[in-house]
Amino acid sequence: MQPSAAGVSAAVGGDGAAAASPRAVLGLDVGGTKLAAGVVDATGAVSSFVVAPTHASRGPGDGVARLFDLARRAVEESGLEWGQIDALGIGCGGPLDDERGVLIAPPHLPGWTDVPLTELAEQEFDRRAVLANDATAAAAGEHRFGAGRGLDIVVYLTISTGVGGGAVVHGRLYRGATGNGAELGHVTVDCNGRRCPGCGRAGCLEAYVSGTSIAARAREALAGSDGTSTLAAIGDVAAADVAAAARDGDALALAVWDATTAMLACGVVSIVNVFEPDVVIVGGGVSRAGEQLLAPVREAVRTAAMSPAGRAARIVASPLGDRVGVVGAAAIAYERAAEVAAAR
Ligand SMILES: [Zn+2]
Repeated sequence: MQPSAAGVSAAVGGDGAAAASPRAVLGLDVGGTKLAAGVVDATGAVSSFVVAPTHASRGPGDGVARLFDLARRAVEESGLEWGQIDALGIGCGGPLDDERGVLIAPPHLPGWTDVPLTELAEQEFDRRAVLANDATAAAAGEHRFGAGRGLDIVVYLTISTGVGGGAVVHGRLYRGATGNGAELGHVTVDCNGRRCPGCGRAGCLEAYVSGTSIAARAREALAGSDGTSTLAAIGDVAAADVAAAARDGDALALAVWDATTAMLACGVVSIVNVFEPDVVIVGGGVSRAGEQLLAPVREAVRTAAMSPAGRAARIVASPLGDRVGVVGAAAIAYERAAEVAAAR
């Protein structure tokens, strides 16, 4: 259940005392379109935060080199010395092997196959490094520093290009058998439904509520419409356009948005029934719609989830926002350090 300490025991650099209580760690977030890096202290305070485009198609050699350049910039801008940085945490979309610290074949990074990211980072920075699924890391970040602080059962759902999930169960990060568990975006909401762009199966939550899927469903609705929707004037409709037009009362956008929140509610009710969480925290770009997205989901959970789970679960927006990837990666590094200290 808990992350293995294998990656830490094989680590280089840092003495035992530093590993027991890191002063600050470097969090790195490897996304399909952007890289992010930041320095995060043990209270969750972020002293620097920098981003750069991933340019994933240029391959892992170029991408990893620029990730490490960004990491150096984050430390420079933090005002801290390298001697105060005790470890690195790296979050990336799966599938990955968190024990060996290897990216296996993430679909958002085509060609980044079997990249030993942890080993490369340890060689580059002479500090221990740990790798985790980005949504799992985000769940750890929310549990340690965000809306899940002090809670026992925490579910995190990120809704952006795809849909990812992570969970903390009885205060411990849930990783599944091999570090790829809690793939909540692939909970089925219609087993005869749309093809899921992430896994190819029919009717996953991701096939309806990801930014990509909201935009695709809006384009399909426009193709069969009379052209009176305000979305018809937009060249390349994005999920944020659909949300904005729905707020303005556009009938086609409202229909697409209401179908989105209905499918999200369907998925979250199932998730609440499985976990009976204290809180479901929703992050990612699509969550910027705020209560327009969350209010219908909250109401569905209250009325449709099994009692008492539905009454107990709070549904909230991520307070960590755009920094959740970096803060989550840092939380993973703190978590591993605590495990190493506990094992001594
Ligand atoms: Zn899927």
